[in-house]
Amino acid sequence: MKTFEYIRPATIAEAIAAAAHPGASYLAAGTNIVDLMKGNVLRPGRLVDVTRLPGLDSIDHLDDGAVRIGALVSNADLAYDTEFARRFPSVAEALLSGASAQLRNAATVGGNLLQRTRCAYFYDPASACNKRSPGAGCDAHGGENRQHAILGWSEACIATQPSDFCVPLAALGAIVEIEGANGRREVPLEALHRLPEQSPERDTVLEPGELIVAVRLPAEAAAFAPHARYLKVRDRTSYAFAIVSAAAHLRMDGGRIAEARIALGGVAHKPWRAFEAEAALAGATPGRDAYTRAAEAALAAARPSGDNAFKIELARRIIVRALALAAAGTPDRMPALPASPFAISTGASVHV
Ligand code: SF4
Repeated sequence: MKTFEYIRPATIAEAIAAAAHPGASYLAAGTNIVDLMKGNVLRPGRLVDVTRLPGLDSIDHLDDGAVRIGALVSNADLAYDTEFARRFPSVAEALLSGASAQLRNAATVGGNLLQRTRCAYFYDPASACNKRSPGAGCDAHGGENRQHAILGWSEACIATQPSDFCVPLAALGAIVEIEGANGRREVPLEALHRLPEQSPERDTVLEPGELIVAVRLPAEAAAFAPHARYLKVRDRTSYAFAIVSAAAHLRMDGGRIAEARIALGGVAHKPWRAFEAEAALAGATPGRDAYTRAAEAALAAARPSGDNAFKIELARRIIVRALALAAAGTPDRMPALPASPFAISTGASVHV
């Protein structure tokens, strides 16, 4: 590993100033960046440890009904916060479907948003990768690309963003609070991550030195709590990234769907908000026909980037099943296998 400078600032302002140094990176729990450094994938000259910064580790239910989650709250603490899980059950389910218990205990909210792709070529310094070395090429094209993108990809990069947490956050209109040298700004989570286009080295719209300090869910997002699910298909249920996932939320009015919020994971360089599917469901009668139309709309622009045409049909089916489960109602208790399409709250099989 290349030697690097380690700095532990006492304030957010000090952290931002320290991170302005060329080649600097922020360090929180380190569950991703330390692995990348050990593998010589990333070689920052300076690590700015933000774990001791004050005021970033609380979950605050605000007077206007919104909830503000500090960037240093751990994934486990958020998922097991009773009030948070009651109001935003799909977010808790997504968190508990990610990584392992040990990782969830350490990994932070801010770090989850900024985790890097799991493309194997990105992690292999001997491979050509435009994300790691701009202009080098992309060995995933024509390589092992079964898990790569089916939406929004470019010739420069076909990688996917791996977070589960970000998928329901995108659907529910979460806002990301950012501090930087020019002050504070806010970005909708749905707009935080970029499509690769010709510059896949940039995962997000963050400017150098900017620090995520919190994520906020608006009050209206809690209106979906009675009908909110996250489903995730992965190679093994115990511990793996999504091949395809879907967060489905419905707000019912009488016998009709008043509003739907849907996002997909594992399909693109960013969590993919399915606006077309949401529009297809507005005012519809719940049922398989409506869910199928919504799934068709969500995947209308999908195209394989390699050996992954199966993901298009898989995504359609996951959307239909997530919508059916959301319409049936959020379970009273977290399913024994969170986000598994093979389990309901009792752990029994469910078929739609
Ligand atoms: Fe790199 Fe993206 Fe190609 Fe993977 S898909 S090798 S991350 S450029």
